[in-house]
Amino acid sequence: MKMRRLAILLVLLALVAGLEVVIMTRFTGQTASAPQATATPIPTAEPTETPTPTPELDLEAAKPNEAGEIPIVMFHAFVEETDPDDSYSADFKRYTQSFTYLKDLLGRLYDMGYRMSTMNDFLNNEIKVEAGYKPVIFTFDDGTASQFSLIEQNGELVVNPQCAVAVLLDFYKEHPDFGLGGTFYVNLGASPFYEERTSGTPLAGTAQERLQYLIDLGFEVGNHTYSHYSLPDATDAETVMREVGKNQQAMYELVDGYTFTSFSLPFGSTTPELFEYVKGGVYEGVEYKNLGIVEVGWDPAISPVNPDYDPYSIHRIRGTGFLAEDCDFEWWLRNPRDPIYVSDGDPNTITVPEAYRSLVDDSKLGGKQLRVY
Ligand SMILES: [Zn+2]
Repeated sequence: MKMRRLAILLVLLALVAGLEVVIMTRFTGQTASAPQATATPIPTAEPTETPTPTPELDLEAAKPNEAGEIPIVMFHAFVEETDPDDSYSADFKRYTQSFTYLKDLLGRLYDMGYRMSTMNDFLNNEIKVEAGYKPVIFTFDDGTASQFSLIEQNGELVVNPQCAVAVLLDFYKEHPDFGLGGTFYVNLGASPFYEERTSGTPLAGTAQERLQYLIDLGFEVGNHTYSHYSLPDATDAETVMREVGKNQQAMYELVDGYTFTSFSLPFGSTTPELFEYVKGGVYEGVEYKNLGIVEVGWDPAISPVNPDYDPYSIHRIRGTGFLAEDCDFEWWLRNPRDPIYVSDGDPNTITVPEAYRSLVDDSKLGGKQLRVY
């Protein structure tokens, strides 16, 4: 009897214990799953904050050389016709090209491994094009309507299909990896990106709307003096500061807070005696400071880390016009000069082959890491 009671007691104990196990499991199950529910979303809900290691750059494949030269191309005007007749002056033909040519040029640059960079990235020594690709920079002087203009369509302002920006946007849509960029050096004493039209779609928008539209598309605007002033004519600092500073003042009035970072010399001519007022100054309380000054040149720009690099004397190449000339952009594409800048894809690192180490001035690295291979 005693044994039976003991057995029953044991069974009861076992049942109670079993029940307890079930309760414990349920309890721990609940308490265990509760922190899990809050713990699991951390990696999944914020995946962008998880640092992903940068893949190691294949130097042999990319062959970066950030001590090389960059073509900064200067354009002026574009027309529909691909073969203008003799009614156009030689000067016009030197500085003008067709939209068809521009489109074709972009395709060739893409195939040659060029990718679009910008003046600001150049000035900041922060070339961002993909590793193994060569940066090219486009600049446009004088704010002509064939560079950029707006028309009205169904009551809205849209980019005029007959302008260089439309060609750049179309190409970028088809080749997003090419990049999009360009700096437009304007004279705000005249209405930029506008002209009266006697035929075709009339151009639209105010100067403010055009500049804002261009900036919103991702393009840069630079200083080219208020009235396309020939700087060698200046005999005093006030004149230089008025021409450079008034243009910045006009820009602030049109696009609030937009500060020009670079300046393009009108007619490519300068004033050595008063050059410090081209670099910076003040006009009617408006201060200006040009971080870079671009010239009307004939060869590619040297790297910002080159010992001879001077931000106040940045060389440009003339975009090839209908009248091609030696040392224009097509000439340089046919006659490339070593070394050409090839990006390492990392704006924080300057990568150069051992053979070009002497083309790097360590004091110009600006805190960026130098990698020699
Ligand atoms: Zn000009």
